[in-house]
Amino acid sequence: MTNDQFQNPKWRGSRPVGRQIMIRISGFKTEHLVIVQRSLATIQERLKHPPGPMPSDLQAELKAILDGSRPVVDLAYGGEAGVCAEPCARSAGYRIVLCKRAFGQVRLPACLFHELVHIARGWELDAEAFENAWFARAEGARLPTPEDWAIFKAQRYQGWWVRLNPSTGRVVDYADRLIVRFSRLAFSGERRV
Ligand SMILES: [Zn+2]
Repeated sequence: MTNDQFQNPKWRGSRPVGRQIMIRISGFKTEHLVIVQRSLATIQERLKHPPGPMPSDLQAELKAILDGSRPVVDLAYGGEAGVCAEPCARSAGYRIVLCKRAFGQVRLPACLFHELVHIARGWELDAEAFENAWFARAEGARLPTPEDWAIFKAQRYQGWWVRLNPSTGRVVDYADRLIVRFSRLAFSGERRV
């Protein structure tokens, strides 16, 4: 299986045959490609049957990225050095770099979802909130790190779509719907961005 075969994969399952994901995937080993593909399918499925509230414009943005009505998003493999020394993924503009560690611990679906929220204009609080609200720990969701909390504070506990009450840990959207609850003390895992 080559990367080319994954460039415009036909979507199988409940979506109309012939629709294509406009995500260009490059530099992955075959076994990683399979995991990327499976993770995209999981995210697509979750957007169809949301496990919790999400502002409709964010949901529309994410669907547009996966459906191809948005500019092409590049997904590249980043190995374990450089920008991948710490995080499981990084994004900038329309490019997402997935790191080796994202593949080792079943973390990819949540990591990829986090970065897609960034691509859809989400701030750190948006990405962390929906990652933890929509994905379980077993799917790779990780609670915000002390570094994330520092970012939340620097951004006045605001995201693009959500805001955090630092004393209660409640993250709500602009319709005041509870998205997730964070505890500053809960984090005990590894660092991530
Ligand atoms: Zn992030």
